[in-house]
Amino acid sequence: MRSCDDLFFDVVSQIHLPRWSLGRVALVGDAAYAPSFFSGQGSGVALVGAYLLAGEPATAPGHPEAFAAYERTARDFVELNQALALKGSAAISPRTEEALLRRNRALRDPAHLPGVDGRAASSALPLPDYAKIL
Ligand SMILES: Cc1cc2nc3c(=O)[nH]c(=O)nc-3n(C[C@H](O)[C@H](O)[C@H](O)COP(=O)(O)OP(=O)(O)OC[C@H]3O[C@@H](n4cnc5c(N)ncnc54)[C@H](O)[C@@H]3O)c2cc1C
Repeated sequence: MRSCDDLFFDVVSQIHLPRWSLGRVALVGDAAYAPSFFSGQGSGVALVGAYLLAGEPATAPGHPEAFAAYERTARDFVELNQALALKGSAAISPRTEEALLRRNRALRDPAHLPGVDGRAASSALPLPDYAKIL
């Protein structure tokens, strides 16, 4: 940091919206519910959202029902994964020298890595098989 000439500095944010669609427009992924990289789940959550947003219009009578089903199915899953960011930030971005040393020790010994909680959240939503429904 002291010697580089292109230091990048930014805030880490999440997106929380009261609803993910309006009229014929629906949001997906980071635009609707970015969990931040502290969760490690942004890509997975975005893919699950995209899968549901592609599948629901194919099976629902119209886009209002499809968008409502998309949000009803995914919202708890999304919020569970967003909550991981509040636990995970200590590992990714330690705030004290002691926490940094603890994190680095854990990285050198994968047996001490956290992760079981994260895996539970990432597989918390059984996806509908639209091929069978259609
Ligand atoms: C530093 C960092 C580390 C991360 N680490 C992880 C990780 O380890 N694991 C993980 O799962 N996730 C991680 N993420 C999060 C992950 O990258 C995002 O959650 C994920 O990419 C969201 O996908 P998305 O398709 O919703 O949005 P994006 O991937 O941002 O895609 C949006 C696309 O839309 C394009 N676009 C924007 N405006 C317009 C426009 N007007 N017209 C046309 N195109 C437009 C953009 O160029 C972009 O290509 C990380 C993110 C960051 C920033």
